[in-house]
Amino acid sequence: MSIFASLESEVRSYCRSWPVVFDRAVGAHLYDEDGRAYLDFFAGAGALNYGHNNPVLKKALVEYLAEDRITHSLDMHTAAKRDFLETFDEVVLQPRELDYKVQFPGPTGTNSVEAALKLARKVTGRESVVNFTNAFHGMTLGALSVTGDSMKRGGAGIPLVHATPMPYDNYFDGQYPDFLYFERLLGDASSGLNAPAAVIVETVQGEGGINAARFEWLAGLAALCREHGILLIVDDVQMGCGRTGPFFSFEGAGIVPDIVCLSKSIGGYGLPMALTLVRRDLDVWEPGEHNGTFRGHNPAFVTATAALRAYWTDDRLEKSTLAKGEQVERVLQEVCATVPGSRAKGRGLARGMAFEQAGLAGRVAGAAFRRGLLVETSGPEDEVVKLMPPLTVTDDELDQGLALFTESVRECAP
Ligand code: PMP
Repeated sequence: MSIFASLESEVRSYCRSWPVVFDRAVGAHLYDEDGRAYLDFFAGAGALNYGHNNPVLKKALVEYLAEDRITHSLDMHTAAKRDFLETFDEVVLQPRELDYKVQFPGPTGTNSVEAALKLARKVTGRESVVNFTNAFHGMTLGALSVTGDSMKRGGAGIPLVHATPMPYDNYFDGQYPDFLYFERLLGDASSGLNAPAAVIVETVQGEGGINAARFEWLAGLAALCREHGILLIVDDVQMGCGRTGPFFSFEGAGIVPDIVCLSKSIGGYGLPMALTLVRRDLDVWEPGEHNGTFRGHNPAFVTATAALRAYWTDDRLEKSTLAKGEQVERVLQEVCATVPGSRAKGRGLARGMAFEQAGLAGRVAGAAFRRGLLVETSGPEDEVVKLMPPLTVTDDELDQGLALFTESVRECAP
């Protein structure tokens, strides 16, 4: 029996799509135990925007550990935390004229969403939240309540937070007057929706199938929220940290959310880290109201700071991400022209190809794996192949990955 077979049977390994044991990783490549290389166009579902074992981040981390600096510190002030906060302010917030307080809600994106929902309810004194069809916000009971029904709720039962789903931008393929229905419900006392605490939205739905909301739609949503005194929470866990080009995925829409959830690539090195950014006047937390043991992880602060200094003090990464995204889009359009009913989707380097035929996306992902390319599927029917390489992928690696993807589609949809 192979080592992997024993893992599968005894440990009930989560990963069924990639039946190998991975061992090493550098940049945009993963290597299995037999030394076979795979191009990683999955990148930890957005957690590895700067690639695996990024040398700049690794140097900072190794030096930090070698000097016996602090790893765990709960709430204490540490030099690593201070350096991160100062750098985040200088490199991310100030240039964008954003005035958020930074909260460390716990190690994961889900923790950030939980904090955002709790705070919105506490600030407004209201309870319900508006979410969107095909949304994904996490797997704990609060975050799950605002996650779309089809997104693998795992039989969690009655949602904890009363959430009213509204149609996401792509729901009617642009045929529906944007917020007519939403506004009508807000003004109708019988709808039960007259005073939600918050709206929570992804600017591009990652798990929902790489659905990119139009900037005008997002701006309209922000205006509606402002008009009705509803807090706008943007969940930038997957699309933030440059995945769509700019640091925050909402920048192109010209909106300023009241609360922003960040995680995945903020730690930069694949280390768990999350932030909840809170409009300064909304910070009504009392001490202890949202605490946790691992909500300020010093090694992650170190790599996060190094990533901000290396990649966000100028616009080079943003520009190259947009250019690479256009390259992916061009290739996807060519491939789509050969497969009836398929569609290219996305923004920046969050790209996807949707297939009409049931099961085809999964077969394409399987064929890609056999060729040495790792891609994930998403969407309510797993109908979309996601292409999300590290933002630091080289042009050659991008071309190689796209060629492997194209061959995989040709094999499965001749
Ligand atoms: N929000 C979004 C938009 C996500 O994509 C995810 C993870 N896929 C989460 C929240 C949850 O983050 P985590 O898995 O780190 O808890």
